[in-house]
Amino acid sequence: MVKAEGVHKSYGAAHILKGIDLEVAPREVFCLVGPSGSGKSTFLRCINHLEQINAGRLSVDGRLVGYREKGDKLYELKDSEVAAHRRDIGMVFQRFNLFPHMTALENVMEAPIQVKGEAKAVARERAERLLDRVGLGDKSRNYPSQLSGGQQQRVAIARALAMEPKLMLFDEPTSALDPELVGDVLDVMRGLAEDGMTMIVVTHEMGFAREVGDALVFMDDGVVVEAGNPRDVLTNPQHDRTKAFLSKVL
Ligand code: ATP
Ligand code: MG
Repeated sequence: MVKAEGVHKSYGAAHILKGIDLEVAPREVFCLVGPSGSGKSTFLRCINHLEQINAGRLSVDGRLVGYREKGDKLYELKDSEVAAHRRDIGMVFQRFNLFPHMTALENVMEAPIQVKGEAKAVARERAERLLDRVGLGDKSRNYPSQLSGGQQQRVAIARALAMEPKLMLFDEPTSALDPELVGDVLDVMRGLAEDGMTMIVVTHEMGFAREVGDALVFMDDGVVVEAGNPRDVLTNPQHDRTKAFLSKVL
């Protein structure tokens, strides 16, 4: 579903991603862990072309991100083509970024109506179903300010799902939450995983990675240091950098 080969990304003179190779299979829960500043968010942003890579190849669902290939030349996609590509990818951030002036239901209905031109009734029906699925069927008329952080994050997940993405990217979705609210969000993600959603999850929740993850990559300083089955990497890390990191978060 996602394939990265020698992906490099710099911001000016700052070389952030230094040749990332990895592959995410369909239906896989792929956990990405690593210290602050190692490039995890940057990599996620490259996947939906919020950032442009400087070298290497990156594809989603068999399509090159941001480019079309003709012979041995690459041509940049038009904005409309990038937007079409991005519709297949849902993203959930640490901060929920819900529209404050819209109810939970309206937040979830918004993108299908605005982006896909979907009929309101259809969007509403799906939004109600998705809010039910994240355990918020009874809060659909609440505004974000009337919801807890964990509830807002579950609305954000429902909002991303409303576009019926093929791939979901989670960037530390529980890091901004009070500890007692983390479990409900992880439960929603676990349910998504059980339904077969392909997910890349940047997280410090090693329990989730161990129980739900199919693969785990430890990234440091813009490179993949170690990758494997989460249980293996977490219980028997091979590299000193992985050991040092895990000793701090486990
Ligand atoms: P964290 O765990 O703190 O979220 P991260 O692994 O997600 O860290 P990134 O956010 O990808 O790390 O950042 C990697 C590096 O890239 C950092 O040194 C950061 O300062 C730098 N960086 C990120 N975005 C930009 C930008 N738009 N312009 C310049 N530098 C940037
Ligand atoms: Mg980050």
